Amino acid sequence: MTTAIYPGSFDPITNGHLDVVQRAARIFEKVIIGVYDTPEKKLMFSPQERVELARAAVISTRNVEVQLYSGLTVAFAKMVGALVMVRGLRASADFEFEFDLAMMTNKLLPELEMVCFMASSQYQFLSSSLLKEVARLGGKIDDWVTADVAFAVKNKVKNVPSIKEY
Ligand code: ADP
Repeated sequence: MTTAIYPGSFDPITNGHLDVVQRAARIFEKVIIGVYDTPEKKLMFSPQERVELARAAVISTRNVEVQLYSGLTVAFAKMVGALVMVRGLRASADFEFEFDLAMMTNKLLPELEMVCFMASSQYQFLSSSLLKEVARLGGKIDDWVTADVAFAVKNKVKNVPSIKEY
């Protein structure tokens, strides 16, 4: 049985992430979304909130689960017995970072293979950070996240005056 981890910040989980998860779940027997607790990013959601939103989004996919982790991703992979680390690649934006990550991961834990899924065309431009910015400015985000996530994001930015919903 091949277990894959899909590590990331997931602040919050988007339909782009979910597309990768669903595709990975068709290939690997078990996929564990690893929510990294303290990424060096300005976060909108707490670790627990990020986990809960991810969990709700994959509740109906039998072989996908969500776990919070801290520390090295390779240590998390070892702890859960994963042989594969899944990541997503959007055109141009991600390659250099993901390539470096693959090299470093290979140095730290050679038996963990990194597998990248090309982002689907409709999600090429979608990132959690862009989504949060659009929401903060009063733009419509419903097409890019689940209803739960859209509700949670709107709650976080509800004090920001919105000019008009685009
Ligand atoms: P990190 O902080 O580790 O980059 P993210 O939550 O931003 O965490 O992303 C996790 C993974 O999902 C990364 O490999 C990223 O490239 C990928 N990803 C993010 N958005 C998309 C998308 N729209 N389509 C496909 N993959 C994506």
